[in-house]
This record gives sequence, structure tokens and C-alpha cells, in this order.
Amino acid sequence: MLDEVIGKMQNRQGRLIVISGPSGVGKGTVLRGLLAADVGTRRCVTCTTRERTDDEVEGKDYFFLSEQEFRSRIDQGFFLEFAHVHLNFYGTPLAGVQELRDQGLDVLLEIDVQGGLTVKGKVPDAVLVFIVPPSYAELERRLRDRKRDSEESILKRLENARGEIQQISRYEYLVVNDEIESAVERLHAIVIAERLRITKAE
Ligand code: 5GP
Repeated sequence: MLDEVIGKMQNRQGRLIVISGPSGVGKGTVLRGLLAADVGTRRCVTCTTRERTDDEVEGKDYFFLSEQEFRSRIDQGFFLEFAHVHLNFYGTPLAGVQELRDQGLDVLLEIDVQGGLTVKGKVPDAVLVFIVPPSYAELERRLRDRKRDSEESILKRLENARGEIQQISRYEYLVVNDEIESAVERLHAIVIAERLRITKAE
């Protein structure tokens, strides 16, 4: 009986952990910290029609697609969810998520709030984690410091941040990214706790 219970916990598919939070909050850095600290997690690379920046790598940061290609994949049912964010399309490949979960790996998905809520609707055992900055002023400072976006884009991201933060109560966990190492530790604690959760449906 005990062997059976433990075996069942160990053999189940990996969890799907959605990480959302305003653009510029440092989701990518926190995620990288977690991936380095935990061998059982993988990031699922998503697709976008946004232009690749000089420091981004195809297939590592995103799969960069033309709008035509993106639309054709929508028609093929390629995406678990997709959304129009900051003037571009972004979408999560369904197969990418499933392949990792089938290997028992916990999948980290860095997507926006509307995407996170869509995922939760389709995958009810997905875990929703919201990362916030310690303040709006700090968020603006981080967005400006990374020198990646135009003024128009920065203002759009700040406006979107306020809208996203209003939806926090629809998420399950909150991590304040005040200091990277502590934020990584807290996110890691969530992942570990979710691994230990007894799932009644299984
Ligand atoms: P950025 O252009 O700064 O890389 O990303 C803009 C926003 O799109 C971020 O909030 C990011 O989390 C979100 N995003 C990235 N990939 C996806 C995706 O596949 N689906 C959705 N819904 N949002 C995504």
C-alpha cells in the first residue's frame, strides 16, 4: 500500500507552473535562477511575432514567427493558448508542454495573465504564480534600465502592469521580486510544495 502510494506520486506527470507578472519585473531572471537550482524543472519556450532583440536567441528565448506563420499555427491547433500582447502575438506550444510533463518534468511557463487564466481553464491542475515588483516606481526603473523598449512601449507596459496586477486574486501564489535570490527561493518553495501535493483526481 505504501509502496503503491509513493510510486504513484513519483510516476505522475510533471506539473505545469505558470509564472506571470508585469513586463520588466524580472520574471526571466527569477526563472533562470530556479532552473539552475532545480533539475526537475524546464522552461517551455513560447512563440512570438515580436522582433528578436540582439541578445535573444531563437529557440531559447522564443520561437520567433512571422504573423502569417503564427496564424497558420493557430488554425492547426498548435497552441495551448495564445494572446495578443503589446501589439504582438504570443502563444504556448501545446506539444512542447505535454512532452516535458510526460517525462515527469515540471514545466515553467512564462506568460501573461490572460494566457495564464486560459491555461488554468484548460488545465485545471496548472499552478498560477504571480511575480510583482516591490512598487510601481521600481518597475518603471527596471523597465528603463534594461534599455530595450521605446518610450511608447514602456508606457504601454506600465499601463498593462496596472491592469494585470488587478487580477492577482485570480492567481494562487504571490512572489515579490524585491531581491532576486529570495524571489528564487520562494518560487522554489512553491514548486517543491506542489510536488508534494496529494492529487485526489489521480
Ligand atoms: P516580452 O515581449 O517582454 O518578451 O513579453 C511580453 C509579455 O508576453 C510577457 O508578459 C510575457 O510573459 C508574455 N508572453 C510570452 N510568451 C507568451 C505566451 O506564449 N502566451 C502568452 N499569453 N503570453 C506570453
